[in-house]
Amino acid sequence: VFIETDANVNQKIMLNEKEAHHLFDVLRTSDKETIRVVTNTSQVFLARVQQKPYIYLFDKMTVEQKAQHITLCCSLIKQDKFEWMLQKACELGVTRIVPFESRYSVVQLDEKKQQKKLERWSSIILASCKQCNRNDLVELTPIQKIETLKDFQSECNLVAYEKEDDPSKHLAAYLEKDPESITICIGPEGGFDEKEIEKLKNDHFSSCSLGKNILRAETAACYILSCIEYQTHC
Ligand code: SAM
Repeated sequence: VFIETDANVNQKIMLNEKEAHHLFDVLRTSDKETIRVVTNTSQVFLARVQQKPYIYLFDKMTVEQKAQHITLCCSLIKQDKFEWMLQKACELGVTRIVPFESRYSVVQLDEKKQQKKLERWSSIILASCKQCNRNDLVELTPIQKIETLKDFQSECNLVAYEKEDDPSKHLAAYLEKDPESITICIGPEGGFDEKEIEKLKNDHFSSCSLGKNILRAETAACYILSCIEYQTHC
């Protein structure tokens, strides 16, 4: 389970309604079973259930810190594709997701809808992190505009641009430098507007190619994260 606070060994914790329902009613966990608890600061504890909605933390696990911090700035795309992309990005090791509006996004959300979406996306991320046994929770930021993506920069900052045909600007070339943290922006179904690319370049994002085939945005996300994972372990 995930808890939103810091914690200590030998502490009794009250789970929120959703987590308690999942653990006690859906999984029907017994007090003989050991459960793994991850906090919002990526600490991992072992615990046992008590009376719903309480659990008791009895041990702390030492976990290896993630080597690379990966921020994926994802343009808004159609709902089902976006949600699929969130799920897969969590499985493939993203650490932060920054949704953003761009000129050719098919999806445009008003403020009220944005809040609802963020809540839904958070629960998709939580479920995916649990399903793939992660020891950390992927951060989701509020929906941004192109102009504010610079606030989420890393050591290496890229924008995936299908018109980039310089072979020295393939993603692999940037990954060879082994950056400790990386931020990559992916455009919507209709691609980036050239002015948006210019704006990002002015903000010190370098354009990068993902090969000669044009990938769908959600495929581009999977491709990028798989390449990073491969590079990290080879
Ligand atoms: N406007 C484009 C078209 O229809 O020709 C397609 C955009 S593509 C579906 C969505 C996004 O995926 C792009 O904005 C880009 O960020 C990324 N992308 C897809 N294929 C790419 C490639 N070969 N190199 C770099 N980025 C790519």
